[in-house]
Amino acid sequence: MQNLLNYINGKLAEPCSGQWLDNINPAEGKIYCRVPDSTKEDIQLAVDAAQNAFSSWSTMPTEERTKILWKLADLIDRDLEKLALAESIDNGKTVKLAKSLDIPRAASNIRFYATAAQHFASEAHVNENDSVNYTTRFPIGVVGCISPWNLPLYLFTWKIAPALAAGCTVVAKPSELTPMTAFLFSQLCREAGLPAGVLNIVHGTGAQTGQALIEHPKITAISFTGGTVTGKKIAGTAAPMFKKLSLELGGKNPNLVFSDCNFEDAIKNSIRSSFTNQGEICLCGSRIFVEQTIFDRFVEEFVKQTKQLTVGDPLNESTNVGALVSEAHLKKVLGYVALAKQEGGKILTGGNQLEVAGRCANGFFIEPTVIVGLDEKCRTNQEEIFGPVVTIMPFNTEEQAIAYANSTPYGLSATLWTENLKRAHRVAHQIKSGIIWINCWLHRDLRTPFGGMKQSGVGREGGLEALRFFTEAKNVCVKL
Ligand code: NDP
Repeated sequence: MQNLLNYINGKLAEPCSGQWLDNINPAEGKIYCRVPDSTKEDIQLAVDAAQNAFSSWSTMPTEERTKILWKLADLIDRDLEKLALAESIDNGKTVKLAKSLDIPRAASNIRFYATAAQHFASEAHVNENDSVNYTTRFPIGVVGCISPWNLPLYLFTWKIAPALAAGCTVVAKPSELTPMTAFLFSQLCREAGLPAGVLNIVHGTGAQTGQALIEHPKITAISFTGGTVTGKKIAGTAAPMFKKLSLELGGKNPNLVFSDCNFEDAIKNSIRSSFTNQGEICLCGSRIFVEQTIFDRFVEEFVKQTKQLTVGDPLNESTNVGALVSEAHLKKVLGYVALAKQEGGKILTGGNQLEVAGRCANGFFIEPTVIVGLDEKCRTNQEEIFGPVVTIMPFNTEEQAIAYANSTPYGLSATLWTENLKRAHRVAHQIKSGIIWINCWLHRDLRTPFGGMKQSGVGREGGLEALRFFTEAKNVCVKL
């Protein structure tokens, strides 16, 4: 049984407590490694190391930092197969998706910020003959990065890359449900020559390790991606300490299909946005609203294509939908299917736990599930399920579609399907979400601001927004 290690001050270290947590392979329901159960002592060591490293890392020429980060990205590319396999085993996602999305994106995140830092310019404000103001930006200090289990290395690097590129030093805590690729990444940091203490990775639970990180007085900023309830808790601790906060939280994203859409495109991509990564992506479109005139045709074709998805062994290249991340999460998702039935929903396909033969007999699988017959206000349509479960509902007018889309406390992303350009813009402007996709889904450009409105978060990541987050602005005014 492999024991994973923390990465503190450039060295791999056992947790101070000597305690470990079991890590389960969700496709098999079996323990396959153990994770450090770190405490505030480990966090203290990590913060000390990050503080010691801050002075030299933050003053290192940007070009030098870029070279080290670029090397890290190259090492991720080199280890693509190994990292993708580890991600699949740890999370339950298909190895095909890990190979095509998670791991390449982790390398892109690092390369993007390694070079973005070189193009990061500050502003000047010239007031005719009176004064010149110029703004400088300094790395904010030692920062905490907390990432979830659904896209483990992808979201881990999405946080640490801008922090490191901006000149901050980092203490990061990956989800203890999916720690493996962050552990492998710590070995790559050593190989790439990242100076000791610049990045520290401390494994453990949110309640113990995460909380110690949030509470530490020397942590100046926290970048968190996870659930809305956890985000609220973190803000409750960090805000009174005047820490800078970036919160990327949950979603209940609408997918609006108008009758003037390209029908085949809308179906194909709605299947993707519903079931990719077992529906465990914060951007998945879990509420599908379809214009009444094409509702029956859409539902019939959507259900037909859902039934064609292969659910099973994530290591099999032909599998479309793998295992959910944990038994607890499987129970939560099945609980929502039961709730949907209580609320009067009709299950058109799926709804049950799936037994997969052979190696995966004890894994956490569920059939992709399509539900109709619910209104937009019921709990099934208001709460984040975060699994391969979608509801489909009809609408009659554009106004109704917009009202339905905006009817939850969330506002992360929305997708529109229409060939009418004017309508596309009109509707996009009225939906209260941080990200709108028109005739596409998960089409990402790393330069764009990323984040949610309402209870989906505070602040934006992506592009230069993240470099601004990890730096502190100072304005200097010179009287002429
Ligand atoms: P959680 O909120 O449960 O956990 C996220 C991370 O926070 C984990 O590392 C967790 O550790 C840690 N954590 C939990 N409690 C605390 C605490 N008190 N202090 C500090 N850290 C803590 O989310 P999940 O891991 O379940 O991820 C799924 C959620 O993430 C969904 O709601 C999804 O929508 C959201 N998400 C949002 C995205 C966005 O960009 N807006 C992108 C991807 C996901 P532990 O694992 O031990 O609980």
